[in-house]
Amino acid sequence: MTDPDTYTALYNKIDQSRLVEDLTTMISIPSMNPFQQEVRKGYREKEMAEFYCDRMSDLGLEVGSREVVPGRPNVWGVLRSKGSGASLMLAGHLDTVGDENYPNAFTPRIENNRVFGRGACDMKDALSSYLEVVRVILDEGIELSGDLILTGTVDEEDQMIGSKYLGKHGPWADYGIIGEPTNMGVCSAHMGQVGYLVRSLGKAVHSSRPEDGINAIEGIMHIVDALKALQQDLMSGDAHTLCGHGRCGPAVIRGGTVVSTVPDYCELEIDRRIIPGETRDDVFTELNSLISSVVQSHPQFRFEIKGPIIDVLPLDVPAENQVLKSVSGHVRSITNKSDKASAFYGGTDAPHFGFPTVIFGAGTLQQAHSMNEYVEIDDMMIATQVYLCTALDLLNCT
Ligand SMILES: [Zn+2]
Repeated sequence: MTDPDTYTALYNKIDQSRLVEDLTTMISIPSMNPFQQEVRKGYREKEMAEFYCDRMSDLGLEVGSREVVPGRPNVWGVLRSKGSGASLMLAGHLDTVGDENYPNAFTPRIENNRVFGRGACDMKDALSSYLEVVRVILDEGIELSGDLILTGTVDEEDQMIGSKYLGKHGPWADYGIIGEPTNMGVCSAHMGQVGYLVRSLGKAVHSSRPEDGINAIEGIMHIVDALKALQQDLMSGDAHTLCGHGRCGPAVIRGGTVVSTVPDYCELEIDRRIIPGETRDDVFTELNSLISSVVQSHPQFRFEIKGPIIDVLPLDVPAENQVLKSVSGHVRSITNKSDKASAFYGGTDAPHFGFPTVIFGAGTLQQAHSMNEYVEIDDMMIATQVYLCTALDLLNCT
């Protein structure tokens, strides 16, 4: 279906009140990520998953769910086509960040044509849009020649175990879109993130005679200095066209016990942002050589590496890929905005899926994770149009 008038006619079928109602219902189900602690009161990813499953089932989709770890299921719904054409996944994460210092985060509020609340733009708005895309396709009796799949994953805000599991166990598709908040721009790439923990092992003695001990904090200070040098090397090394240069830096330090003791233990969490083409193994090798060079100059220190403590892949969808071309084309025609793809600042589930997936959605990263999260309803409407038209494009309906 390529006739622009057909698309325009379909825009009028998108029901704003349904979009807003589903979004506000989802905001009121707190689905905060437990961040490696036990799933507990207020951390209701599972309830959010059940709600999404119910809504997909109400629409008539074939739904499925699989626990990634106990109490934390990925869910999906498939709109089966009669054909065997390419398939498209509209994916989003079910979890949100926390509500610390954010009063009434889960009491949705509509003001100035915006919906406020935790998850409003990151990214329950997109989940709501996807439901509306399916509803319009079904209500209009549009036949698809490939499957349309909606997916909700757990744990995107932390270790992304949901998308990693999905990449291994499915469901899969030929193309994917994730409606993370890109401020209505198209993002085809982002950096990955690899974190390692480095332990410095020293020798504890009374701090009145530090020369008899080995101060483990000083060992870590040498590592921090070496990281600064590495950062400079990265900035003068290869850059990715959209993502720029890789980055690294110290993120967390823990060490020492009491003021009167030379510390024999200190640990450092290192954050390394990798560009497409770099891997976790590259980072491990790089870190080992960094440590070797520190030990060469300061042989009294011993170090251990643990990790990766975080491992998120980089994303790089080729410019000629159909899903990227289709989303970009509709963004240009609907919004008159630039259709030039850029890099998303954060990491996403996308690279773990194992098929080309682009990032496009309403809202901005400034609003996401903030204490005043909101989405513009007009942008949500436009994003829904883009998802709908892209689905019709790629699923080759006639
Ligand atoms: Zn997100």
